[in-house]
Amino acid sequence: MIRSTKHKMNFFGSLFLLIIISVLWYAILHGNLIQGKEQEHSSDDKVYTVVIDPGHGGKDVGATGVNGLYEKDFTLSLSRKIKDILGKEKKIKVYMTRDEDTFLSSEDKYRPKYANELKADLFISIHGNTYEDPEVSGTEAYYYHAGSKSFAEILHEKVVTATGFHDRGVKKNDFFVVKYTDMPSVLLEIGYLTNPEEEQRMIDDKSQDSTAQAICDGVNEYLGLD
Ligand SMILES: [Zn+2]
Repeated sequence: MIRSTKHKMNFFGSLFLLIIISVLWYAILHGNLIQGKEQEHSSDDKVYTVVIDPGHGGKDVGATGVNGLYEKDFTLSLSRKIKDILGKEKKIKVYMTRDEDTFLSSEDKYRPKYANELKADLFISIHGNTYEDPEVSGTEAYYYHAGSKSFAEILHEKVVTATGFHDRGVKKNDFFVVKYTDMPSVLLEIGYLTNPEEEQRMIDDKSQDSTAQAICDGVNEYLGLD
């Protein structure tokens, strides 16, 4: 009898202990899950993905400047500078649609697809303009979707201030890179490679540095990181 009661006590004692452990375990696990979810939603931890798109590349040289500068080389050079500056921001991760002199077909819409697949937060396509009249000069910014307009306006203002080029305004156009991207996207025509003065400024390394910095300042301002 006595032995049997002892056994019963041990059995119920163990069961009680097991229940306590289970309840505690559940509470700890559940508590961590809630905490984890809260962290996920905290804007402090958000890392923004920015895609820089150097226009043209490879056999597609883009515009040819009055002194022979290819648009594809200018766009790559400036884009690399933007990537270097933005890459230092803790809350920004930068990608480029091309990092070499590569040809990217516009037929398969690779550039916007690349940004869409990355679920990028922002997309910036870099270009240099061209016109038959060498007198024509200035900076332009293009967007397509209404949600991209304020981003285009901020970047445009920064570029115009940095370059000192004539302000040709922010315009809506259905260029495929701004049309097929799912995130706020802008195409920047920094200046005219067919204008001798602007081409000289666009080739200049220091001038490219300040233009790159201006674009990065615009990104930070738009994202509220400055
Ligand atoms: Zn172009």
